[in-house]
Amino acid sequence: MTDYRLFIGGEWIESRSGRRLDAVNPFNQEVWATVPEADPADVDRAVAAARRTFDQTWSKTSGLARAQMMNRLADLLDQHAHRMAVLESTDNGKVIRETENQMHFAARNYRFFAGYADKLYGEVIPLDNPALLDYTLREPVGVCALIIAWNSPMQLLANKLAPALAAGNTVVVKPSEHASVTTLEFAKLVEEAGFPAGVFNVVTGGPAVGDYLTRHPGVDKISFTGGPGTGRVIARNASENLVPVTLELGGKSPNIIFADANLPRAITGAVAGIFAASGQSCIAGSRLLVERAVYDQVMDELVRRARRIRLGNPLEPATEMGPVANQPQYERILDRIEKGITEGARLVTGGTVKDPGLERGYFIAPTVFGDVAPEMTIAQEEIFGPVLSVIPFDNEDQAVSIANATNYGLAAGVWTENLSRAHRVARALKAGTVWVNTYRTSAAQAPFGGVKRSGYGRERGWHALAEYLVVKNVMIDLSQEC
Ligand code: NAD
Repeated sequence: MTDYRLFIGGEWIESRSGRRLDAVNPFNQEVWATVPEADPADVDRAVAAARRTFDQTWSKTSGLARAQMMNRLADLLDQHAHRMAVLESTDNGKVIRETENQMHFAARNYRFFAGYADKLYGEVIPLDNPALLDYTLREPVGVCALIIAWNSPMQLLANKLAPALAAGNTVVVKPSEHASVTTLEFAKLVEEAGFPAGVFNVVTGGPAVGDYLTRHPGVDKISFTGGPGTGRVIARNASENLVPVTLELGGKSPNIIFADANLPRAITGAVAGIFAASGQSCIAGSRLLVERAVYDQVMDELVRRARRIRLGNPLEPATEMGPVANQPQYERILDRIEKGITEGARLVTGGTVKDPGLERGYFIAPTVFGDVAPEMTIAQEEIFGPVLSVIPFDNEDQAVSIANATNYGLAAGVWTENLSRAHRVARALKAGTVWVNTYRTSAAQAPFGGVKRSGYGRERGWHALAEYLVVKNVMIDLSQEC
């Protein structure tokens, strides 16, 4: 059992309040670590440290030096991937294979953005008046507040921190109260990589800490990953200080199987799309739209595979699905399953789990609802759990119209062997990411983010750098006249 401290200005300190939060293992409900609950004075101190380091050191550090530190950090994360994955799986219940892959993917993101750190130059702009020299500088925004959710802390952090550091910003990170441990462990790797004290600061705690941080007048930029309700509060907080904000919110992503698809591949994509990470993935393909001609065939195979998924201890390599991450989430998912039944959807498989050895874990079986109507709650609201709503459709236009008929627009999948249809539907879907004949595939180079209530701004890819840079225009009169 480890009692962690806050990481502020390069020091490990207790919170001013002395209060602590328990880290609970969702597999057995045991408290396995504690983290401090920061109070406003701690947040003030973290923002001041980030500001001091930004002004005095980091904004004067060359892109090459920043890149070298980021590459060292990536190497350290690769070296410590297994240990970090064990901690993350213990904290949020995600299976070790997934968390370990995510550590390496996070490392890949630090390397990708390190490559940009010494290439952030502006342009020279020819003006109408040739006596004027005009050019742009791309400068860091300053102190960034990064707020993340519990489902994939190290990956969500990399999405924000890698471009923020490459661009020359300093940060204050607030991980979720449900999974803070790896962010604090990661701070040790940041220290070891040689970053100056104050570049990376961590304050742990719940909504009150996040609220105080996002209203802080010393913060120049906010980036948030979490639910849409919290996103709204944070956008309001950002508006008080008129600072830019990036919002990565939830989704209710459609995964569309046309009758002309390679069905075995499509079904594998549909199963992984919803049941990976126990469905606690913002990009989960939680609505499966299936063309009526193959509906029964797809349903039968889907249900057979869902029942075969091996639940168990997330730390055991053979486990295919772990518990959901915490008690509030567990109760919320069960409540949504009840709602699906009440509204008349057909529960084909899933629900609660009574298997011996799993009694103390927050387990929910892979759950499939058939014959779901597009307007039902389970087809409209994000559940963030292993619950799939299967909706039949009759033709391409109807599929697109059902797919677009939610408030969300994070991701979508299309399964077809018809090339023209693939492009046509990809264009028609209202989503930040469209996958064709694959699902849930991420790349450091590919921009990621939402439209509609799934948020705004982009992470990953060069597009993410724009979120952490401001353009300054410099105009110089070269004429000799007095
Ligand atoms: P959440 O919104 O409850 O919490 C996210 C973070 O915000 C936590 O650190 C929390 O402490 C903090 N927070 C809560 N209230 C706050 C406030 N008033 N001011 C400032 N900070 C506050 O979300 P969650 O339950 O941790 O995560 C689940 C949600 O995250 C889902 O909706 C999911 O889709 C979304 N998510 C989105 C992405 C994406 O990239 N789009 C990725 C993962 C998760």
